[in-house]
Amino acid sequence: TLFLDRIDALNPALNAFITVDREGALAAARAADERIAAGQAGALTGIPLAHKDVFCTEGVLTTCGSKMLSNFVSPYDAHVVGLLKAAGAVGLGKANMDEFAMGSSNESSFYGPVKNPWQLAHVPGGSSGGSAAAVAARLAPIATGTDTGGSVRQPAAFCGITGIKPTYGLVSRYGMIAYASSLDQGGAFGASAEDCALLLSAMAGFDPRDSTSLERPAEDYTAALAAPASARPLEGLRIGLPREFFAEGMAGDVRAAVEAALVQYRALGATTVEVSLPNAKLAIPAYYVIAPAECSSNLSRFDGVRYGHRAAEYGDLADMYGKSRAEGFGAEVKRRILVGTYVLSHGYYDAYYLQAQRLRRLIAQDFQVALQQCDLIAGPTTPTTAWALGQMADDPVQMYLSDIYTIAVNLAGLPGLSQPCGFGADGLPVGLQLVGDYFGETRLLNAAYRFQ
Ligand code: GLN
Repeated sequence: TLFLDRIDALNPALNAFITVDREGALAAARAADERIAAGQAGALTGIPLAHKDVFCTEGVLTTCGSKMLSNFVSPYDAHVVGLLKAAGAVGLGKANMDEFAMGSSNESSFYGPVKNPWQLAHVPGGSSGGSAAAVAARLAPIATGTDTGGSVRQPAAFCGITGIKPTYGLVSRYGMIAYASSLDQGGAFGASAEDCALLLSAMAGFDPRDSTSLERPAEDYTAALAAPASARPLEGLRIGLPREFFAEGMAGDVRAAVEAALVQYRALGATTVEVSLPNAKLAIPAYYVIAPAECSSNLSRFDGVRYGHRAAEYGDLADMYGKSRAEGFGAEVKRRILVGTYVLSHGYYDAYYLQAQRLRRLIAQDFQVALQQCDLIAGPTTPTTAWALGQMADDPVQMYLSDIYTIAVNLAGLPGLSQPCGFGADGLPVGLQLVGDYFGETRLLNAAYRFQ
């Protein structure tokens, strides 16, 4: 009950959880005790965790941060939830998030904003802000999240913890409520790289119910961490520094923390080399065509017929759809559905959607060229530390631009990790982002582990 009690005490101020499943958690904890007594425990048996409310959990409210699903009790578990249950992990409840994972500050949630545990007047980042705040405030030792354009790495950076988004296709999307399917990827939050490695090892794996799931043998990401360490455990590791990420745009305090981290990486034996990602600056425009296009299609299923919010009064069927959707979705979700419908419409498809797909290809190729000159790429996770609640509320474009370092990684499908690397002038955490080649999770986690 240690974590449940901390949630009771601190969640009213943080708003990190939408649902606390006290009964379910206690039952799972008792079952875990029995497994441990029977000598059948795994690494996660009895370990409490929080699930982002984007993951379907059988018998437990699953809202995706939206009024649309505010009455939705899922009849089944997401693949990831099932794997973690089978591993004996204890689900504490469902973490708050931006509505349908659209946002970078957690302010678009129907359940209200999450507060940054380091400074309650600041945002925790988003969209997995509840998961990150819960781990940072030790309301849960580990948490799941999803990352479509930075939603694991950015809140991890803002909350001073570690978060990893694996290679696209490594973690099953089955039962993970879809935002932009070609970008969405489940990820892990922990207080350390080791905790992330433990959680990711249990989440990853082939699932025939997800058509983009990769058929690869399961890996134990903790194995490499245990390798014998020397004074220079990263000897031979080549870290690429993208010229474009270190140009203008990064706040001075973030730059200072990132450069200090690179000094430490060199002391651990790594070398650094300048690389270039010439098309990375086009990642945001490409993303804000592709992601809304996919979201407008994915969110068409929420019509108030079989589940979810239905307007109390309506005329004919079309009126019921219209009113239910008008009432059920918040402003940011509506904005993206409109943009997505527009860029996919006849006459605009070629001009916007196809162009964005071409940019996506160029961005992915840039990373492949860069990764021939280095083993992993490092830079800031975000241009600034966590901003104040409400600061970007009326300026969605400014908020979109803040994802400049994370979004390109999703477009390329590569694995990315954010780890804490110091503090800004305001006392808020700064994150260092590491990006690896496809299936480079072990290398990323090992580097982060040696650094911390
Ligand atoms: N902040 C980005 C967006 O608003 C990314 C969100 C995410 O990764 N789910 O779309």
